[in-house]
Amino acid sequence: MDAETILRLRIDRLKGILKSCTLCPRKCGVDRTRGESGFCNLADDVAVSRALPHYGEEPPISGTRGAGTIFLSSCNLKCVYCQNYQISHDASGKRTDAEGLSTIMLALEKEDCHNIEPVTPTPQIPQVMEALFIARQRGLRLPLVYNSGGYENPEVLEILKGMVDIYLPDFKYGTDNDALVLSGVKDYTAHAILSIKEMVRQVGDEILMEDGAAKRGLLIRHLVIPGFISNSLEVLGLIKKHISVSVPLSIMSQYTPMPSVKNHPRLGRRVTRNEYEIVINCALDMGFETIFTQDVDDKALVPDFRKEVPFEWS
Ligand code: SF4
Repeated sequence: MDAETILRLRIDRLKGILKSCTLCPRKCGVDRTRGESGFCNLADDVAVSRALPHYGEEPPISGTRGAGTIFLSSCNLKCVYCQNYQISHDASGKRTDAEGLSTIMLALEKEDCHNIEPVTPTPQIPQVMEALFIARQRGLRLPLVYNSGGYENPEVLEILKGMVDIYLPDFKYGTDNDALVLSGVKDYTAHAILSIKEMVRQVGDEILMEDGAAKRGLLIRHLVIPGFISNSLEVLGLIKKHISVSVPLSIMSQYTPMPSVKNHPRLGRRVTRNEYEIVINCALDMGFETIFTQDVDDKALVPDFRKEVPFEWS
């Protein structure tokens, strides 16, 4: 069987999952091809909020010419503090199909972006992969970055082998209790570990660079949440134990309280310098070899998707 036929069969397999959806660990079992919707409230078309060159990702992802970021609507987690809540808690983005999404991908390549970066692809994997297939046939050369919340179905990820070039998963929670309180799921940790293991199996545990940006590999993100420092330390321990200390980490300080948690006793403030340094020092003590860090300051790094340019701060 030739490579093209294998890819077509895999995309068909992914599309088949939409009929009783288990694309993510919520396993809603709804038939999205018949108008039923599960937790993510998405159908079987494509819902896009915004596509643009994005200069605010980690240096290997944004490079010098920007990531070709496609913000997809809705998410399978919907964390209470989500920094992109305007689009992640809402499925009402612009509707298109795989053909239309492939055109968006090619337009980002024309804008000279380093890669194509769908965020968050998890609930729309079949459509994204079909769009990628079409775009590749139309000449797309850029690597694909899979930027997700880390709450994945590892069996679905297995099907993506060879389609994804760079994985950019979050590892949000080191305890299931924190995952339950903040994201309403009780099995985050095990799924994050299994999923990231599968990602490493596919692309390795380092970042390979070319032309000033990542070409292949994996980078794990962790957002430090105020008042949840022990959660961050648990995450680091789990990555060290189950993945490796070679894997590049991005430890983010940019947490900004969203309107929904503004009055929350723990979530209603920024992370302090002391909290952030505890996490960074712990990562260094554990032997992590590559750590991307951020400044701790009052600069809000939260996009406003109501504006034409959501990242005016960059
Ligand atoms: S992708 Fe959406 S419908 Fe499918 S299992 Fe996840 S939340 Fe449910």
